[in-house]
Order: sequence, then C-alpha cells, then structure tokens
Amino acid sequence: MRTAYEEKTVNSFQYHEEAKKVIPGGVNANIKFFAPYPITMKSAAGAYLYDIDENRYIDYNLCYGALVLGHGHQKVIQAVEKQLSEMGTMVLGTPHQLELTIARELVDLYPGIESVRFTNSGLEATLLAIRLAFAWTGRKKIAKFEGHYHGGYDQVLISVQPTLRDQGELPRVQSDSLGLPDYYVENTIVLPFNDLEQTEAILRKHHQELAAVILEPVQAGYIPPEPAFLKGLRELTEHYGIVLIFDEVKTGFRISLAGAQGKYGVKPDLTALGKVLGGGFPVGAVGGKKEILSLCASKDDKNILVADHDSSPSQPNTLFHSGTYNGHPTVLAAGLATIQELKNPSTFQKLESHTIQLRKGVEEIFQHYGIEGTTVGDGSIFNIVLTKNEVRNIQDVLRSDLSLRKQLDYLLLSEGIYVKPLNRFSVSTAHDLSVIHETLNLFEQGVKKWIR
Ligand code: PMP
Repeated sequence: MRTAYEEKTVNSFQYHEEAKKVIPGGVNANIKFFAPYPITMKSAAGAYLYDIDENRYIDYNLCYGALVLGHGHQKVIQAVEKQLSEMGTMVLGTPHQLELTIARELVDLYPGIESVRFTNSGLEATLLAIRLAFAWTGRKKIAKFEGHYHGGYDQVLISVQPTLRDQGELPRVQSDSLGLPDYYVENTIVLPFNDLEQTEAILRKHHQELAAVILEPVQAGYIPPEPAFLKGLRELTEHYGIVLIFDEVKTGFRISLAGAQGKYGVKPDLTALGKVLGGGFPVGAVGGKKEILSLCASKDDKNILVADHDSSPSQPNTLFHSGTYNGHPTVLAAGLATIQELKNPSTFQKLESHTIQLRKGVEEIFQHYGIEGTTVGDGSIFNIVLTKNEVRNIQDVLRSDLSLRKQLDYLLLSEGIYVKPLNRFSVSTAHDLSVIHETLNLFEQGVKKWIR
C-alpha cells in the first residue's frame, strides 16, 4: 500500500526513476536524497515551494537555511537585475568595487573579522580557514567536534554522523565517506560539544600538534553552546596558540546579524561564512585576524600557474587561494541586498519573534496531544527533538526517538510542510504571521494522523 507521501508525489517518484539512470542516486548532493525518493520541485515564491505534482509546501528547509528572506525577495531580484545590466552576465575577472563594499560590511558587523576573502561555497571557506591555520602555526592536525559539518571534503568528513556512544566514552574518529585517505583520520581529533572538561583534557594532550579547532558555534545551527563553553574554548585555544575557527556558514546572519560570535560575545581567530551571505547564490567567505589572512596576500607578482624557468626552486612565500568565480559580482549584489534588508532592525526582530511563535505553537500542540517532545533552537533555526531530556549535543539527539520523528516528518510533508526528514527548520522573513498560523494548523493535522 502506498503511503500518503507516495500518493501525493507520483511525478517525483517517476522523475527520480529517470534521474537515477544518469545521475547517481538521482541527486547532485547526497544530502538532497531521502528515502524512498526526494520531492522534485519546480518553482518557489516567498515562503512556498511548488513541486512537479502541483503540490504547495511551506518551505522550512529554505535551501538549508540560505534563503533568510524567502524565495525571490524583490530587493534581491532588483539588485541582481541592476548588477547584470551594468556589468554583464559574467564575472569580471578583475577586482571590482562591490568586493570592498561587502568586505567592509562584514568587518563592521563581525567582531572577529578584520579582513576577508571570498570563495564560492561554505566548503571552500572552511578549507581556506584550515589551510591558513596550518600555515600560521606550522602544525599538522586539526580538532573538530562530533556531529559538526563543515563541507564535503576529506579533512572534515570525520565524525559528522557519529554512532551512539556510552556516557563518559570519548568521541570516536570515524570516516564519513568512502575514499577518504587514512591520513585525514590519523590527523583529526574529535571533541565533544558542550563538554568543556573533556575538551580541555583532549586539547591538553594534543595541543602541540594542533593547528586549529573548528566548530559550529551553535551545533548544526540549532543546539546552543552553554554559556561557559565557547568562552572556555576561546581561553584554551588562546593559551595553546591554536587557531580558533568558527564555522558560521549556517549561523551567520541567523543567530544574530553578527552570527553566533555577535550573540555570545566570543571572538574567533577566523570565521567561515556562506549561505545567507550569497542571498541565494553560491558563496563563501573567510574573515578574521589581519595577520593570519595576510598570509594569502601576494608578496610579489610571481604566478604559480606559469612556470618561471629563470628562478631557482624555492619555498612558497604566500598561501595560495584562488578561484575563477571568487567575489562574483552577481553573488555579491544579492548578498549585499540581503544584508541591507536584514539590517533593518524590525526585519530581524520579526524574524526572531515569528520563529519563537512557531516553536511555542509546536510545543503547545505536543503538550495538548501528550507527545514527549520539544523544540531546540537559536535565532531563526530550530529542530524538533522527541525527548524529555536536555539536548546539549548530537549524542542527546541520537538518544531521542528518531524513528517517530521520521514518521512525523513524512506526515508533515504530506500535509504541505517541507522539511527534510530529521533535519532542522529554518525560518525566513517571508514567513509572516499568517504563514506561521497556517503552518501550525497543518502541523496539528499531521500530528492527529500521527498519533492515531
Ligand atoms: N559549514 C556549515 C556549518 C554548513 O552548514 C555547510 C553547508 N550545509 C557548509 C559548511 C558547506 O557549505 P556549502 O554547502 O556552501 O559548501
């Protein structure tokens, strides 16, 4: 018998069958797949997505949090159209003035950013941040936190999806992908989030070989750090001369306008940004201390991609960072329009208060129907965790009732609420009060079917 989800998404099923023939798994990013097949969308506007079966969904994935103004915000579209008409469709391949404008915005907003380089994705941003840390310290290992995602490459695809461990047992170093050379497992140390005592013990043991500690200051964008945790981590890394990298790809412009560092008052050495910064276009950025970032400032005009037969072999004197599309004007125009819109105090305030109202409504529905569950979140991101216990890190989430949560997610999908199963909810400024009320009505309908 077909489930309600399958009944409603027949065309998505057929599309997926065809796509699988020429695209591995039918998707171009593993995270976009969920069983039995993902929904294929065809258009979007504001808070809504529309699929190829003519269903409408209230979107709480929002391209994994990137679309903080919702789909197709007028000011973003206008900025992009203006930029395209002035500069043409392509990247200029030269410096251009928007780069400085947006770099200054980031320096003004983010306490930890004095200088900034743009990339094309969050992945490239954390990659550059880690390379900077290696170059700065001359050490060869990094430490990351269990369950924290920093992009899909070798160095950080470790213990992002851990298994349940016993309380007191230390996090394991586990590869999350086939094809990952042992080198990365051997040179990565895994720490427990929100556990300063264990973190301190591990850092004390390994500090001489550690170039960087990288973390999502709010785990997966929704599990807040405990008050003393980030501060303690800052003190420890400073003490040991380890570069502290905040990966604010998800939390930037969402936990506060100045990310988690703005809200929690802790200044990292380097910050990776992405998602919201591109206003819906592919982007990343690394900002941080001027002395560290200046490692990538060219000391001469030697071009490493052109053989220079006259010079004798020498050590590189610059950290190489490049990319054809870095600082793409269309992307930066969309990002700047997004930041300007968010800087309007009432915009950000409404975004947060609508998120709180939604969370409160969900919790009231759980209470009313006697469901053991709560919301956990920060800023405009939250998740539903079916547990009565405190949620401090990924292990607590693994201990919650994930199979029940999955059932709920598929019912929500069939009611018209788009969440990727087991994923967090992101809210946008397009989710006004009427959208929040509509969501809560659909949510309640889903819950009634769920507990039947
Ligand atoms: N870091 C974090 C915290 C992220 O959430 C993501 C994307 N989900 C990335 C890095 C990678 O960004 P991108 O997908 O743009 O490469």
